[in-house]
Amino acid sequence: MHVAGIDIGGTNTEIGLVSREGNLLFSETIPTTGHNTPEDFVREVVMSIEKGCAKHNAQLSAIGIGAPSANYFSGSIEFAPNMPWQGIIPLVKLFSAALNKPAFITNDANAAAIGEQVFGAAKGIKDFILVTLGTGLGSGIVVNDQLVYGHDGFAGELGHVIIEENGRQCGCGRKGCLETYVSATGVVWSARDLIRSGKQIAGITSIEHITARDVATAAAQGDLNALMIIDETARKLGFALANAVAITSPSHIFLYGGVAKSGDILLIPTRKYFAHYLLRNFAGKVKIELSMLPDNAAVLGAAALAWKEISP
Ligand SMILES: [Zn+2]
Repeated sequence: MHVAGIDIGGTNTEIGLVSREGNLLFSETIPTTGHNTPEDFVREVVMSIEKGCAKHNAQLSAIGIGAPSANYFSGSIEFAPNMPWQGIIPLVKLFSAALNKPAFITNDANAAAIGEQVFGAAKGIKDFILVTLGTGLGSGIVVNDQLVYGHDGFAGELGHVIIEENGRQCGCGRKGCLETYVSATGVVWSARDLIRSGKQIAGITSIEHITARDVATAAAQGDLNALMIIDETARKLGFALANAVAITSPSHIFLYGGVAKSGDILLIPTRKYFAHYLLRNFAGKVKIELSMLPDNAAVLGAAALAWKEISP
């Protein structure tokens, strides 16, 4: 028995068939864009799943979907800013009707948290926060073994906690959200600000084409300005994580995604600032670790959601 894990991003959609043990039997990536309607998109994903099942003689039990702005309760993507279709897209209804199997959806960061819980470093851990550091900053919050959805399905938006009043303009329409500082986009923003102020970062020649990886590479080679950006990013992350701990008291925080891959260079100062801002009651009780999920974790997370629903 296998479930289909579907990770829908603004550009690409990854599809995988995943066993209860987390083995990936089949995977395929298709573009999310270029379909006239959501129905056309669903048809192509369904064809890919059916192809995978036929090729490997696998029996499909359920479908799990991770997507930005997805609502677990309504089964829909709701007003996702970076998706090709606007409004409310009832993906659970479309997929379960097409494949005649139960389907479940949650946002991509929640799916990553469930993936960490079912297949990764959070196995057996009942209270943790998973933070995804990519283009933006997402989070999945698990309390007493349950993912926190809140009353309408949108809980756990740590990326949109305001950490600077009247700070940087965020895609959500407000100013000063954590993800405008702590994300690949935020790091690039900081690097541009620094270069515009007349300073330099080793290896960066064009202000237009900076990536967060360029900054991490320069920092790893000891560039002081790049190190200053990483240090300030870590300070803001440590600050926000210390505040989050005061609310749900997790035993672990896992960092996941592209920016987290910069490893110790971000992790060590984040731990330092986190300890500095943490309420004394929690001192020494909360571990910040890197995720142990492999690169195809988004598909695994979506699949883990389906497994958790059909065989908890
Ligand atoms: Zn925001």
